[in-house]
Order: sequence, then C-alpha cells, then structure tokens
Amino acid sequence: MKKIIFFGLLLFVPVFGCKIEQFKLAIDIGHTPKRGGATSATGVKEYVFNKRLALELLHKIRKEGFKKVHIINRQGDEISLLQRVQIANNNNTNLFISLHHDSVQTKYLTYYQKDGKKMHYSDKYAGYSIFYSKYNPENNNSKKYAMLLGEKLSQQSMTPTIHHAEKIKGENRELIDEKRGVYQFEDLIVLKKTTMPSVLLESGIIVNRTEENKLNTKEYRDKIVDAIIKSVKEYCHSQ
Ligand SMILES: [Zn+2]
Repeated sequence: MKKIIFFGLLLFVPVFGCKIEQFKLAIDIGHTPKRGGATSATGVKEYVFNKRLALELLHKIRKEGFKKVHIINRQGDEISLLQRVQIANNNNTNLFISLHHDSVQTKYLTYYQKDGKKMHYSDKYAGYSIFYSKYNPENNNSKKYAMLLGEKLSQQSMTPTIHHAEKIKGENRELIDEKRGVYQFEDLIVLKKTTMPSVLLESGIIVNRTEENKLNTKEYRDKIVDAIIKSVKEYCHSQ
C-alpha cells in the first residue's frame, strides 16, 4: 500500500506491479560443455552460443536494475535437465528462460569437408522460435510471457522460423502464434517440470551460414538481449 496525501485527506491506494529488483529471473544455459547440443555451420557447439548470450544478458539486465538474476549452470557442470529444474524450483524463481540455438532436421543438411573434418550447414530456414508447455502449472503465464517475448523480438525486426510446425517426424509442433514465433511443446522437461512460468528460446539457427554470422555480431545479440529485457520488464509489471 502506498500512502498518498490528497487535498488534506490521507488515502491508501494499492500499488500494482512488481519491483524489478525483487524479481527472480533464472537464465538457463542450454546444454553442457561435453554435451554441447547442435553444431553450427562452422563447427562450433551450440553451448558456446548459449553461454555467451546468457552472460551478455546477465550483464545488461543487471544494469537495468534486476538484482536477482540467477544463471543456471554458469560453471558448466554436466548437470541433468531435472537438476536445472530443481535449482529454479528451490529458488522460488518468478520466471525461467532457457537459452538455446537451433538446428534443422538432418535431411535438410548439406555436408562438406573442412581440414579433413565432416561439417554441415543448411540455409533453408532462419529465425528464432519460442516454446512453452501446456503442462507447466503456470502455463497461462508461460504463454503470456512467450507472446511478449515474441512481440519484442519482432519489434527488433527479427523474424521467427515456423519450420518446427512442419508435419514431419521430429517437428510437428503446435504453432500458437506465427507472427511471434510461439509454439506449445508439452514434453520439454525444463518447461513442464518447473513450477514457475517457463519458456525456451531458440535464438537463431546456427546451421544457417548467414544466421551464424549474424549471431556472431554483438549488434545482433544486443537486439535479442534488449528484446528479452523489455519483455521481462513488461511481464513483471503486469503481475
Ligand atoms: Zn539446444
């Protein structure tokens, strides 16, 4: 409650919204150093992209006044998905964001040799995508945050990919909002077992040669980071 003196009258009015310095945000670095996820067009593991983006986000969001931001597995231990969930659940986290970078189905990959090593790429698809799970106990808020994040990313002139909705084995995800790049994916452990609103962001497709180059520029990553910060702020104030 906030005390307000109004024409000599003492009024008590409720103040809505959260305080960003109290808001507990968990940023999950997808994968581990040994199990690094997808491999980019130039042979770099997804984990490297995920960690770089998470640390840049941490740096910038702290400057914006967020004081309770927790990076899950900053040290790069070989932890399980459930351990990530437990860390977030035990910490009374308000919002969980898992950071990833994307690939495509193997049938779309083109293979080539570099220094005697088999490499791959695919320029067929580009763009970000956002997932939430209907099995998360806070699925409405998960969806609400996913939509906000998609809106902020598209306002940064980023485009979503809709290839996860393709009716083929390994994809066929339920596309909830094509413009914002939001999908419902019920069975992702970090999305369904967390007790707080949770989303997974595939920040871009690293097997795409142009997109990998973009993701390697600070300017492009800043757009992603800024969109995340804006969406977290807006979500926080809507609570
Ligand atoms: Zn991943």
